[in-house]
Amino acid sequence: MPPVVIALDGPSGSGKSSTARGVATRLGLAYLDTGAMYRALTWAVLQRGADVEDAAAVAAAAADATIVSGTDPQAPTITVDGVDVSGPIRSQEVTDAVSQVSRVPEVRERLVRLQRETIAASEGIVLEGRDIGTVVAPDAPLKVFLVADTNARAARRAAEQGQAEAAHVEATAASLQRRDAIDSSRTTSPLAKADDAIQLDTTHLTLDEVIDEVVRLAAKAAPALGGTTP
Ligand code: C5P
Repeated sequence: MPPVVIALDGPSGSGKSSTARGVATRLGLAYLDTGAMYRALTWAVLQRGADVEDAAAVAAAAADATIVSGTDPQAPTITVDGVDVSGPIRSQEVTDAVSQVSRVPEVRERLVRLQRETIAASEGIVLEGRDIGTVVAPDAPLKVFLVADTNARAARRAAEQGQAEAAHVEATAASLQRRDAIDSSRTTSPLAKADDAIQLDTTHLTLDEVIDEVVRLAAKAAPALGGTTP
């Protein structure tokens, strides 16, 4: 039997990471943060001194970086050429450049191939990203597209960073909107809801409520997860 895949897509700050980790933990599945992979490749491109506005330079710089992701939802890891980059990939420098790097088709081809290899090697997995339901795993039995108000998303991100003051929330909202705009308008696999994805607005829900809902949908969609086919 092919591994069960749960695809969780949505814009930045919609709650994908916490939800995906919670669902994977509850269901005993592996977990892959594909955004961390794009961030890791961006870190590698910046380390190599490439201009992120130059697609050919980005493709060349990204070509020889080896990305390895650990898929334990309770302790996910990510390395580039054997170096732990879980801290540096969250820096403002990487956040500001990642959407430019993610537009480059060679970067996407490479990471989508890696993501499919990770799925194939698993016994069941939750993937979070922007193009999981549309491109990476179009046959996933459950696709969820998470959305939330921009202000709610910015407030969550700022709180995660321990900086809840108004000016920081405002700057975070602007950064999220800028990334959403680039992610939604790129030519290769833009941020988009798959036609058969279930949209879930998390603005007024707690994390536990969102996890409960996705677990309920998973049991309905995938008999292998202990539920029955609807
Ligand atoms: O999820 P996160 O905010 O960490 O993702 C960082 C960036 O990686 C996104 O803004 C987007 O540019 C890119 N990304 C992508 N495709 C994915 C996951 C992330 O293009 N599947």
